[in-house]
Amino acid sequence: MTNHNINFDEDLAMLEYYQAVGVNLAVGEKAIDRFADAKNNIENKKQQTKPENKSNISTFISQKNISQEDIPQENITQQAKDIAHSAKDLSELEELMKGFDGCALKKRATQIVFCDGNPKSDIMIIGEAPSRDDDIEGRPFVGRSGQLLDRMLKAIGLDRSKVYITNIVAWRPPGNRNPTTSEIASCLPFLHRQIELIKPKIILTLGAPAAHTIFSCKTPISKLRGKWQQFELNNLSIKTLDNLSIKTLATFHPAFLLRQPAQKAQAWQDLLMLKTAIDELTNNA
Ligand code: URA
Repeated sequence: MTNHNINFDEDLAMLEYYQAVGVNLAVGEKAIDRFADAKNNIENKKQQTKPENKSNISTFISQKNISQEDIPQENITQQAKDIAHSAKDLSELEELMKGFDGCALKKRATQIVFCDGNPKSDIMIIGEAPSRDDDIEGRPFVGRSGQLLDRMLKAIGLDRSKVYITNIVAWRPPGNRNPTTSEIASCLPFLHRQIELIKPKIILTLGAPAAHTIFSCKTPISKLRGKWQQFELNNLSIKTLDNLSIKTLATFHPAFLLRQPAQKAQAWQDLLMLKTAIDELTNNA
């Protein structure tokens, strides 16, 4: 809007216009720039929603009376990293994750589903997210796909006492949908810390979301599966992480195999690769 002195005729024309559109009340003597007000409000809100990296997000939220959705994801991820890397062992890590409010899934889940199996195992299995049954029981892979996973493990001489099982997210996504990028990003530092604490010699990922998260890629699971790759923990630019390079294999998710039983033949090839690698480990021990 240009700012110039208006003359009597313009003044009159403006009043007539106001009258025609129904304005019959003056609300103030002084003009207010509402556009500038709106801009300032947005700037103020941005400032308020920038917590310091190391501040506790829950405390910050309650102090500032803002919602979790207002916190930038990079701050949540940084806080998750700080918390995860302060954990000295697995049980401390689980307790710290239980208290962490940075993953939106936590709100609607019954409880955390952290891990199952043997933390001393050399073999780590990484799934996607807890199912409804897992959420109720607090243990990963206890539902239908878990029963198939147990059968797959048994076929190569394994059971839950011989492997460590976890997921890329620790809370159940509502309706068993895939976890979102930000839900995964919030939980990922806790997964990395689990890997660092367990130091497995072999990782098996189940399904596309787990493989994409571990390999930081979007290659279709049909192309990723059945090939050994190295998962480099030191490439993650988290200073405190050990330099771990872990033999990692991707395969199909058991839930997918339940829907597409014809793919079980390929999954079986992957399981045989896993068995060969485990036998080599045992023979070299
Ligand atoms: N249960 C889990 O714990 N993870 C999956 O990926 C599926 C079911």
